[in-house]
Amino acid sequence: HISSLSRYKSQPTKTRDGKSITLLANAELPEDITTISAAGAQGIGLYRTEFLYMNRLTPPEEEEQLSAYRDVVEGMNNQPVTIRTFDLGADKTVDGGRHLNQTVVTNPALGLRAIRLCLNQPNMFRTQLRAILRASAYGKIKIMFPMISTMHELLQARHLLEQSKHELDKEHIEYDHHIEIGAMIEIPASAVCAEMFARHVDFLSIGTNDLIQYTLAIDRIDDHVNYLYDPLHPAVLRLIHMTLSAGKKHNVDVSMCGEMAGDPRYTRLLLAMGLENFSMHPNALLEVKQVINETDLSQLPANTMEMMDAVDPLEADMLLEQINGPDH
Ligand code: PEP
Ligand code: MG
Repeated sequence: HISSLSRYKSQPTKTRDGKSITLLANAELPEDITTISAAGAQGIGLYRTEFLYMNRLTPPEEEEQLSAYRDVVEGMNNQPVTIRTFDLGADKTVDGGRHLNQTVVTNPALGLRAIRLCLNQPNMFRTQLRAILRASAYGKIKIMFPMISTMHELLQARHLLEQSKHELDKEHIEYDHHIEIGAMIEIPASAVCAEMFARHVDFLSIGTNDLIQYTLAIDRIDDHVNYLYDPLHPAVLRLIHMTLSAGKKHNVDVSMCGEMAGDPRYTRLLLAMGLENFSMHPNALLEVKQVINETDLSQLPANTMEMMDAVDPLEADMLLEQINGPDH
């Protein structure tokens, strides 16, 4: 099975009827680059940076971060790398962030995490922004902000980025002046208002792990409720659809970097919904590519919209089977 998949490695990712699709990988640790290159990804769609704060007591300085980001972008041989700013808090432990004003709260997933924590700790955030900007002199880097829920957050984050750029200009330090900026859509409110964000970013990326958690009110790490964790819930599909439509309308790329993007059972559904950029665990790449390369978009049954009305999970499964056909 694995060896039959390996023939897809060198093939372009393209549907039977000729639509090119971009397949990117998610990275969590610097050593993931090896697997990612081996799997033939076209770049990194989500570079999680929380590892820099793990298993240590002191925060990572600018030079240390610069060298980590530089290694990854150089390791990817000029393919684009989307670096996500610190998504600390809630399910992501913050060993090295004990000094980060973190208190014990009842609902950490609804608390000071991700972009909220960064905006609350501007010095920590600025250090990261400077390091990312500096690394952008060595390859194609994009910046992505996690858990954006309001325009104010996005504008504040952009403002801090602009400040960092000015500092670097004054210090005569090089960086990519056209670095692209994106927001993650992980909160139902943000998906509903995706158009508003689309006007102020270069790209959007749907984080289905959190989007599903928040839409269905299911703690993503609580085993007692994971039977309710359902990417096919019509509310989840509608929110994805809204985000994709906002991107189309404003000519802004939309990608998906949550687990849903790497599950071959959902590939055809997502293609039918208009998703063109998938980012996933490198181990899932070839299987998803196989599905894409064996799909004729024009032959897909027009069930996508029906899926959004399928309140009964059995009906949703049945519709998915129709979309996937007998082989999948
Ligand atoms: C997501 O929420 O889907 C996502 C990609 O981010 P993380 O899993 O790191 O929260
Ligand atoms: Mg997330």
